[in-house]
Amino acid sequence: MSAAKKPRRKDKPLGPIPAGFEAIGGELAIGGKTASALVTEAGRTPLFVYSKAQLDNRIAELRAAMPARLGINYAVKANPFAPVLKHMAPLVDGFDIASAGELAMVEAAGLDPARVSFAGPGKRDDELEAAVRAGVTLNCESEGEARRTFAIAERIGVVPKMAIRVNPEFELRGSGMKMGGGAKPFGLDTDRVPALAKEIIAAGAEYRGLHIFTGSQALDSEALIETQGNVLNLADKLSGEIGVNCPKLNMGGGFGIPYFSGDEPVDLERIGAALEQRFACLPESLNETDLCIELGRFLVGESGVYLTKIVDRKISHDAVYLITDGGLHHQLAASGNFGTVVRRNYPVAVANHFVNHAGGDGLEEVNVVGCLCTPLDRLADKALLPHADVGDIIAVFCAGAYGASASPASFLGQGPAAETLT
Ligand SMILES: *Cc1c(COP(=O)(O)O)cnc(C)c1O
Repeated sequence: MSAAKKPRRKDKPLGPIPAGFEAIGGELAIGGKTASALVTEAGRTPLFVYSKAQLDNRIAELRAAMPARLGINYAVKANPFAPVLKHMAPLVDGFDIASAGELAMVEAAGLDPARVSFAGPGKRDDELEAAVRAGVTLNCESEGEARRTFAIAERIGVVPKMAIRVNPEFELRGSGMKMGGGAKPFGLDTDRVPALAKEIIAAGAEYRGLHIFTGSQALDSEALIETQGNVLNLADKLSGEIGVNCPKLNMGGGFGIPYFSGDEPVDLERIGAALEQRFACLPESLNETDLCIELGRFLVGESGVYLTKIVDRKISHDAVYLITDGGLHHQLAASGNFGTVVRRNYPVAVANHFVNHAGGDGLEEVNVVGCLCTPLDRLADKALLPHADVGDIIAVFCAGAYGASASPASFLGQGPAAETLT
């Protein structure tokens, strides 16, 4: 019986490798060190490598494009690795945390809690107390949370700093994760904000203004500009109803990074120019306001590379599988299982044969998978890569945000990856 020749599978494109990564002697280099040297230094794979130079460049580029008045906060949940937090401390204006665990991390990194704000639904009493004691600004998510805060503050004899997180009626168009508009667990519906602000002021707390976060991972610069305009208008309207100028306005963030083939980076110049225009004619209620945006993945995502070693190479039904010692337990997002509808390939390369194969010559179609016993554990599907075998190192890019801390490291007893800042 002769088997019918199967049609050739169509390969799937890889995402774009972020700018700034070079080759040294045909190997991927991060911060001037080759991937194999970094692995030797760490003593093992899988390994997350974060680049100081990439972090510095990203923040410099952002500062250059944005109005000088705009503060830049780092959303710690994107990457809470202690050396990264320490490195970011002098580069950004503030930190946004989402738990007492993150508060402990920023304190351990030596950051001044006066520069920290705490958002997140479901803050426990012990978390509220730790934050109030430390002098962190609470972005209140409900009336109930605000009243628990008043009681805790009175008991411990500290004046709490309280802002209100607003659940706006608009959302950030095209964002990967929508966090505003309609019924939401986040923030307070717009029409209830003025009453709570008055209650905060009447309770003798320090009113710290508004927090309006509308979404994440947006690449459409026009949508970001439109949302920032809506945020400023809403903050002005609410401040008028509250009857107090806005001391601080956290305008949210949402700047995305290109993960997939065809993704284009946000246009910082355009966003900065539009903000500059808005800032030039702010209403009275926002004239003296401390204005900031909060960004996570945009600041750190492209600085990180995940290095994982090939432990087996096998063929199944004509398909090549490169089986690595890493996987979704460190790279849930790259595997396509972190809020994605259709799985697409992240930028992936063979780190120790890091050459430009734009032409496609000498490449083979491979499936890069992790070591977990589940079909969900995929790092690259039908990807065109240079020939790779056992012992070679696979690099997954865009691994600086929502990688190590956002993946189920204990799944199947694998444990966490090593991490290093270089
Ligand atoms: C997660 C989160 C961020 C960071 O989002 P990125 O997409 O990483 O920039 C910022 N603010 C709030 C309130 C968040 O929940």
